[in-house]
Parts: sequence; structure tokens; C-alpha cells
Amino acid sequence: MTERTTQSNDTLKRVLAIMAHPDDADLTCAGTLAKWIKAGRQVHYVVCTCGDKGTKDPHMTPHRLTAIREEEQLAAARKLGIEAVIFLRHKDGELEATKEFRAEIAMLIRHYKPDIVITHDPWQPYQLHPDHRAVGITVCDAIVAARDHLFLPAQTAIGLEAFEPAEARRILRKLEFHFTPKHGSWLNIAEIELSVLKRQCLAGRIADIETMRAEVHTWNTDRNNRKTEVDWQFRTKDARIKLKRLYPKL
Ligand SMILES: [Zn+2]
Repeated sequence: MTERTTQSNDTLKRVLAIMAHPDDADLTCAGTLAKWIKAGRQVHYVVCTCGDKGTKDPHMTPHRLTAIREEEQLAAARKLGIEAVIFLRHKDGELEATKEFRAEIAMLIRHYKPDIVITHDPWQPYQLHPDHRAVGITVCDAIVAARDHLFLPAQTAIGLEAFEPAEARRILRKLEFHFTPKHGSWLNIAEIELSVLKRQCLAGRIADIETMRAEVHTWNTDRNNRKTEVDWQFRTKDARIKLKRLYPKL
């Protein structure tokens, strides 16, 4: 995420995370979303496909897999405090950047009026998955279609109007690509948690593996019971130093 959206105490309240598959947002930007939700932002997920090909189980059927993945996505969203998950239920692996798909996404953008839109980077080098490319491109095109009043007259006719120029410009400035190699910043949640574990629980020598397991379990239970939260210290200016190669000189 870039500097303008990692700033706290701002007025960017509504976030729309538009992803190809159930799990994409959770795997790539859930830490950032958790941080934003804690700061009072409201996040909606749009999941474009059923995720009905994401398995190696030869006995799994697409129908059953769809149900499992939606259930998992909803459970993950509940944990994070996502406002709602909108499932578009296109076929996994078959998404294309069509005008119909663009209109569908533009309709959601006009409806939710997000301050920030997060999606896949369609220009990421060697972006393999066709759905990620299709969603990334379509979201960019849909922002244009949502912005300009001569696009999508049927939506305008039922009250989903294009944005005023200032509002349109504001939304365009808040399009963010997750997992992008350019101007990226990273929130390494696992590293943070492991570092706390190391300092609080594993600082001294432990005699055997069983004792270590028991101590980690106790530490973990206590931490969960106390609902311990992370005090985020890693600001954008730190990222610019630590991840210098991702921030070209302007
Ligand atoms: Zn995906």
C-alpha cells in the first residue's frame, strides 16, 4: 500500500477490496485491512469467482468446493470485522475483462462510493492467474465507467449516478494494488507475532520439546484471553528506509 492510504487519522472511511477468489484478500492484504478496521474504516469484500477450481482433491466437486470456500471466506471476514462479502459467483479460471463484468463492478463502485479500492495488480510482471489479470484490468476500467456520466445510462436512470468531478478524482487517487512490486509497502504479520513469541516466551533455554510446546500453548492462550492487539509501529517513513528498493526516488 502506498503512503497516502497508510496514513492514520484521515477521512478515508470506506474501503472496497475487489478480488478474484475467496482467500485473495486474506492472503495478501488482511493485515492492512485489520489495521484499517481498527482505525475505524469500513471494509467490504467483493469476491468475483466461486473459487471452484482451487483444490488438489480428486474427489472434490466444484459445487461442494464453492460452498466450502464461501463458508471459509465468510468466517475469515467475520474474524477481521469486514462489513459484508459480496459473492459474484463467476466461474473460477474463466473470468475475462468483458463490458458486462465491467458494468457489474462499476455498479458496485457507484453504490458503495469507496474512498479506497484495492485489487490485483494486472501489470505485475508474470502475473500468472488469468482471473487476477481480468479482475485488475476490469476494476481499473470500471472506475472510469463509474466516474463518467455518459457511461452506463441504465445505472444512472435507476439512481446509481456517476460521481461529481472532484469525487471522481478523489476515488481515482485511491486505487491501490495489493501484492504489487512497485511503490509497495509490507506488513509482515507473522514476523511481528513470532518476534513477540521469541521475546516473551522463548527468551531462555528450554529443556525439551514437550516443555516448549506447553509453554508456547500457555503463552498463546493467555495472549488470546487478554485479546492482545498489535501496536503498529512500522510507518511509511520506516518502510521507505527498510524497503528502499520498492520506492523509486521521485
Ligand atoms: Zn486468487
